Amino acid sequence: MEMTEQTFETIKRLICRLTNIENGFYANKFKGTDVASIKSREDFEKLPFTDKADLRACYPLGLSAVPKEDIVRIHSSSGTTGTPVIIPYTQKDVDDWAEMFKRCYEIAGVNKSDIIQITPGYGLWTAGIGFQAGAEKLGAMTIPMGPGNTEKQLSFMLDIGTTVLCATSSYALLLTEEITKRGLRDKLSLKKGIIGSERWGEKTRSRIRSELGIELYDVYGLTEVYGPGIGISCKYSAGMHCFDDYLFLEIIDPETGEVLPDGEVGELVITTLKKEGAPLIRFRTHDITRIIPGECQCGCKHPRIDTITGRSDDLFKVKGVNMFPAQIEEVLKDIDGISSEYKVEIDHVNGKEQMTVMFECSGGNYAELENKFKAKFKAKIGMTPEAKAFKLGTLLRSEKKTKRVYDKRI
Ligand code: ZN
Repeated sequence: MEMTEQTFETIKRLICRLTNIENGFYANKFKGTDVASIKSREDFEKLPFTDKADLRACYPLGLSAVPKEDIVRIHSSSGTTGTPVIIPYTQKDVDDWAEMFKRCYEIAGVNKSDIIQITPGYGLWTAGIGFQAGAEKLGAMTIPMGPGNTEKQLSFMLDIGTTVLCATSSYALLLTEEITKRGLRDKLSLKKGIIGSERWGEKTRSRIRSELGIELYDVYGLTEVYGPGIGISCKYSAGMHCFDDYLFLEIIDPETGEVLPDGEVGELVITTLKKEGAPLIRFRTHDITRIIPGECQCGCKHPRIDTITGRSDDLFKVKGVNMFPAQIEEVLKDIDGISSEYKVEIDHVNGKEQMTVMFECSGGNYAELENKFKAKFKAKIGMTPEAKAFKLGTLLRSEKKTKRVYDKRI
């Protein structure tokens, strides 16, 4: 993304402020960095990244960049590894977040005459409360349901006349199935769905869209950077517009940390421009996406990031080519007769790297499907793997999150 002079000056002022806080997070992190020597974008790009582990290490309030009495709220991101990350917010941070979320609703064509049913959870988690504050700022009527209790969700939807559903993709799908099963669609006033940022496939999307006959919008965000609502897709579904007056975005090669040009796929890194309570400089989101070059047909000037295709932690490299499980899923999805179940093995064979993709088929000629897969894979990802087709139910399914990639090179 282009860094305007104004953005550069804002970031520089922010760095000066943060490094002057005695024993502050960035005063410690940037110790040894001569802040006065940051004179260009190139200098900025030499600054170290901030990672989630850094935030965890300063639990509970070590990230705070303001006096305690200026903090009006904290949120916390769930840590899979124990210690949570605490993000403090000032009143301005809360207002700014609501302003961004209000814009999200506006981009989705939602206005104050709408009735918005909010099903993501409320609490320490940033989900529900973000949807809520933005909707209130917009002036729409909200139904702060939170998750679960499908019966009540449906009866309120019906009785109060909900026009906008806010949900995670999985909960939206569950409600869609219930609505279809009960034949409720024609009795509902539902027009739009605003779907939180879990990764979700086109299959789920098109099911919700076609069964409910509503427009869907993807909202982007993460707790460390306000929460959901820092970006949203528009009616052209051509990526998510992110609010660059609040955020500076970079895409980096997750392996080398090198900044990539617009259009190239890598990890999203965010610098906050206006945050007071917990500003972040070069925060690694681990979300894989790209900045979509050029302007959107909708006329909105905010830059766009593409649909999130995975986490940089899932990245692996074979024969010099970086790839993600999500890319393999993309290739499989495009071929009729191949199911979504697959497994990848990477090993050295006769001193050379070899990658084998095993997948299940619902029928058809296996050799033909294998060749089709190899050709599509080569065209999309840039190298040719080995392919092995199996009949449905052959590949081992594990109870928990299915492990797909087995790297035997080490
Ligand atoms: Zn647009």
